[in-house]
Amino acid sequence: MTGRQHVLDIVIVGAGAVGACLSHALTVRGFEVGVVDAQTGDEGASIRTSALSRASLRHLSDLGLWPLEGVEPAALSALQILDRSGRGRLRFDSADLGEEDLGAIVNHGLLEAALRKKARALGGPWVRERGEGVVISDSGVEVATKGGRRIRARLLIAADGAQSVIREQLGVPILQYRYGQTAVCADIRLGNAHEGVAWQRFLANGPCALLPLPDAHRGSLIWSAADQEALRLRALSDADFARALQDAFGDHLGPLHVEGERAYFPLVASHARHYTGPRFALVGDAAHRVHPLAGQGVNLGLADAHTLIRTLQSARSRSTDPGSRRVLRAYERERKAENLAMLVATDLLNRAFRTDRTWARAILGAGLNVTDTLPLLKAFFMGAAGATTPRLTHDAL
Ligand SMILES: Cc1cc2nc3c(=O)[nH]c(=O)nc-3n(C[C@H](O)[C@H](O)[C@H](O)COP(=O)(O)OP(=O)(O)OC[C@H]3O[C@@H](n4cnc5c(N)ncnc54)[C@H](O)[C@@H]3O)c2cc1C
Repeated sequence: MTGRQHVLDIVIVGAGAVGACLSHALTVRGFEVGVVDAQTGDEGASIRTSALSRASLRHLSDLGLWPLEGVEPAALSALQILDRSGRGRLRFDSADLGEEDLGAIVNHGLLEAALRKKARALGGPWVRERGEGVVISDSGVEVATKGGRRIRARLLIAADGAQSVIREQLGVPILQYRYGQTAVCADIRLGNAHEGVAWQRFLANGPCALLPLPDAHRGSLIWSAADQEALRLRALSDADFARALQDAFGDHLGPLHVEGERAYFPLVASHARHYTGPRFALVGDAAHRVHPLAGQGVNLGLADAHTLIRTLQSARSRSTDPGSRRVLRAYERERKAENLAMLVATDLLNRAFRTDRTWARAILGAGLNVTDTLPLLKAFFMGAAGATTPRLTHDAL
């Protein structure tokens, strides 16, 4: 792989959940795939969880990547959504879909580690260094790493996350918007059993979610607070933080206690002007980043991976060059509309409910029609769960 003469089919830069999934699936499908990833080990559990939709679980299962050793999922049976007043309530049950569950909550670090392990076990070239430079030519692409290696391939897949150096090197512009919010994440001990229900309360300065963990009395907190508020929360002791959380979230799950450390993530929306170009494709957070309120980042990235795998496999069966523009454009066309729609929908919901009003008033305030929007809102969250298309995005915006 380090020799200048050898040309791989595909080089993937970045092996988070999306890159590792692609690496495994494309190798299994007969492509010669090399990976460049900045992580020096497989890492382990993180403070943050991810909600995997039913669609993602189906995709992973089709790829032989679900269930995953080392990842203990908590089944998601319902979503309970509250507005700030507590009077506006919406509940979405798996029974509405005729399904056993709406998806699963997993520890994000363990998910990544398990996918990396599966991908690496296939024995393809794997360089644990940062990718730093890219040169594209008519016949191929060359990635330069921090340690001075050069990897050549016919197609480059940039899966190196939101701060993608590769995207920058390729000169792809992004539209970016800072929410002025920071997600505060922590494990929380719950007074009442969660019964598989994910709670989300829309507060004045952002949504506060408690997602079920495998232990019936533990929940994963994702509290999107205004930056100033997040700074204040950061300075609090665990006991004071738990009191602030209890005030904000309410008593729905009994007394709340913080377990372990807290983590903080500034929230940003971004979207790449294009996902593909000569001999390259962007996937996952390198291409798009959405507000976590609908728990969709990894799901959109895995959907990118699913589409790209299908597109490349079909190109291979026709003996078409995987780096050809026609092949890559098919991937971009299919994914861009859905990703953009989710970005706009989550942004709209985040804005609409940062008020002290009930659902109905907030919906009206956002210029939407209540009768039309409540079913659409339901369809949106069900779509986010992966069973239907998130219709709010197409029909209401
Ligand atoms: C608070 C919070 C909660 C979230 N909750 C959910 C949720 O419930 N459900 C959901 O679907 N999504 C959720 N998301 C979003 C989700 O975490 C991301 O969308 C997802 O992790 C993106 O995956 P990725 O593989 O594209 O990128 P990343 O996870 O960022 O992985 C990028 C990889 O590239 C590597 N890398 C970076 N730079 C280089 C380089 N120059 N060279 C080589 N390697 C490089 C990194 O080491 C890493 O391995 C949440 C996000 C946040 C912030």
